[in-house]
Amino acid sequence: MSSEFDRMWGALDPVGRVGNGGYRRFAWTAEDHTLREWFAGECAARGLDLVEDRMGNQWAWWGDPDAEGRGLAIGSHLDSVPDGGAYDGPLGVVSSLAAVDALRDSGFRPARPIAVVNFGDEEGARFGVACAGSRVITGAMTADRALSLTDADGISMAQALRAAGREPSRIGRDDETLRRVGSFVELHVEQGRVLADLDPATSAVAVGTDIWPHGRWRIDLPGVANHAGTTALADRSDAMLSAAQVVLGARAAATANGCVATTGKLQVEPGGVNAIPSHVRVWLDARGADEAAVRATVDAVRREAERLGGTLTEESWTGTTRFDGDLALRLRDALDPQTPMLGTGAGHDAGVLATAGIPSAMLFVRNPTGVSHSPEEFAERDDCLRGVDALTTVVRELTS
Ligand SMILES: [Zn+2]
Repeated sequence: MSSEFDRMWGALDPVGRVGNGGYRRFAWTAEDHTLREWFAGECAARGLDLVEDRMGNQWAWWGDPDAEGRGLAIGSHLDSVPDGGAYDGPLGVVSSLAAVDALRDSGFRPARPIAVVNFGDEEGARFGVACAGSRVITGAMTADRALSLTDADGISMAQALRAAGREPSRIGRDDETLRRVGSFVELHVEQGRVLADLDPATSAVAVGTDIWPHGRWRIDLPGVANHAGTTALADRSDAMLSAAQVVLGARAAATANGCVATTGKLQVEPGGVNAIPSHVRVWLDARGADEAAVRATVDAVRREAERLGGTLTEESWTGTTRFDGDLALRLRDALDPQTPMLGTGAGHDAGVLATAGIPSAMLFVRNPTGVSHSPEEFAERDDCLRGVDALTTVVRELTS
């Protein structure tokens, strides 16, 4: 098993890797295509039946998905944020394939079908909406909205799909796929350092309990373009100064409300070094354990934006997502009653499926740096293999 894990990990290592050691694996790009082909190849080598759903998510079935008893899906995603780490997503996909290997090597015969899934466009790095693959098939995002999203180059998702050989009119809610999925377990690298601070002997793997409420908002701030050398400071209307106030305001509001807020992306028009910005778009990501506190944070940013003549538009919002409590306890008991139970501030496809009524659960693998969405993201190889063991145990428990 471990050598197969290493082989798969090694094959993914160079795909979309950039100079700083991070990854750029964005939806419907050449890198994404390579990853999909890799996944298809691994599934074919295992004799799994690969089906692409109405949003391009890849489901590889062990057993007849339409047979008696709805299937157990395991998996994650292969795409990344800009300069993301190697583990966020791929660890779950590779571990799922390795778990299938381990079960087969032991002669196990599942009583219900098992799918390994590779969800597309989980990070939303290109089109701005996270979990686009699972949101569309569950109906949480309409096909019209998805197709009209645009990337930084103005390419719509519809155009990107067509360029990748997919038919945009085909995308949408996919009840046939959902009907096949009785439950979903996503293994994921931990994106904080709770486990790293616990007893090292019992904390390589945790079971997920819930996902914090979270959302994304776009703030549009106006200004007037003019010459950087000949326009007196007093005569300027500089959208970047407004952006600076909004960024600092978001930080202050998050601090006051006990949440987290991030402004990690800006668009500046006209975007010249010697031109006063006429328009700045700032994207806000806000999350927290408490919904009302996140809402209060965003409301404060909205008031600040409006005071500056701008607007704040909600691009996505997901309330608290609780994973299936019974399923989580079943996972914990199958592993070890001492297994830690963790909530997380990161969104996942498992959360989207849970919201759609599919009993879902997560396993988290210890990350000693606690860092994610960065090249520093890490998990020890031994912990990765413990994660595979845990997933194998869970799949056996749920499909016996
Ligand atoms: Zn992820």
